[in-house]
Amino acid sequence: MLQTHSQSSGLEALRADFPILHQQVHGHPLIYLDNAASTQKPRSVIASLVHHYEHDNANVHRGLHELSSRATAAYEGARAKVARFLNAPSPDCIVFTRGTTEAVNLVSHAWGGAFLKPGDIILLTEMEHHSNLVPWQMIAKQTGAQLRFIPVTPEGVLDLSNLERLLTTEVRILSFTHISNFLGTINPAAELCAKARAVGAISFVDAAQSAGHLPVDVQTIGCDFLAFSGHKMCAPTGIGALYGRKEVLAKTPPWQGGGEMILSVQYESCTYKPAPARFEAGTPNIAGAVGLGAAIDYLETVGRANIQAHDEALAREAYIRIGEIAGFRSLGPQGPRGGLVSFAHESIHPHDLTAFCDQKGLAVRGGHHCNQPLTRKFGLPSTTRASFYLYNTSAELERMLVILHEANSFFA
Ligand code: PLP
Repeated sequence: MLQTHSQSSGLEALRADFPILHQQVHGHPLIYLDNAASTQKPRSVIASLVHHYEHDNANVHRGLHELSSRATAAYEGARAKVARFLNAPSPDCIVFTRGTTEAVNLVSHAWGGAFLKPGDIILLTEMEHHSNLVPWQMIAKQTGAQLRFIPVTPEGVLDLSNLERLLTTEVRILSFTHISNFLGTINPAAELCAKARAVGAISFVDAAQSAGHLPVDVQTIGCDFLAFSGHKMCAPTGIGALYGRKEVLAKTPPWQGGGEMILSVQYESCTYKPAPARFEAGTPNIAGAVGLGAAIDYLETVGRANIQAHDEALAREAYIRIGEIAGFRSLGPQGPRGGLVSFAHESIHPHDLTAFCDQKGLAVRGGHHCNQPLTRKFGLPSTTRASFYLYNTSAELERMLVILHEANSFFA
């Protein structure tokens, strides 16, 4: 079990796995609290990339030589690990993508392009990251479908009181974030997917902020699609996955064309492979998949339930204590929440505050966090966000609180 005290030997040993954490920034020990944007990588993940390139590197699937066989086994082995990680019924339900953004684009353009028509409704929430909003805007324009939104309350949770009026039989897809990257809100994923199913709609869960932070089981959630980004859970950048329910994937036409996704090609036409190959045109990110497999191994050794308890304890403490500092307020629900806290100051601009924190070695993020409409709804120019992960300590949280107090004096 992780502990939140930096002096605990378990957490110190875990931190030793992450070489990047042990450095000074602007003359101060680095405190990395920008994990919702991207996480750091343990040695085992870095070593898996080095090993792949030093020993096994070749293109997958096409070769009949030893290196290609090894690369293929590693790539397909990673797919099987992702399937187990999400409790998907089969590796064939897992499509490798560049990350969550590419997965939403794949589903909105391939599935949406085939099945959406004028009068259909795409139901989203007001707390979606731009990557689960803009692709739906694009496909709505192309197909004549319309967007509808589940509202967010001032407390930062979904207002489900009028869900029956929003989730009508015209809704073809409900797509929503599992954990808000802006508010930290955890949405009731299983309940929402069941309600979508009841009106004949399919569901898409954006698990970018949840997959690496808490146990995610696609069969318990009952979703049709779910996507995550590897780089937000200790894996390299440029790799992620889309889970698709077998029956839905089978009906979805390809998105991109090219090598590896075809059965047979003539000059004028071709036939396609079944999923997942149908959705993986061209040479994939083989090393990225290997690194993702190593990251999953690492996270499973620690245990996602432990990671969730650790992250949430830090985030809850941060939420309360930031709100107690003069001029500051924390956004979103106090709990249950994901491992991040957005906060605002009555007069200090988030960009100034973030730059001030950086000078003290503290990496937090200032901005709209790719949630411009919601930021506007809250009447804010932007916010500052601290986001925690398995290697963060309560000593780091205490240091952040001291820095926020110092900011009050500095900007007074
Ligand atoms: N969805 C959520 C909730 C996110 O927080 C993010 C990234 O911050 C994304 C989607 C997009 O992820 P990526 O940029 O890795 O595709």
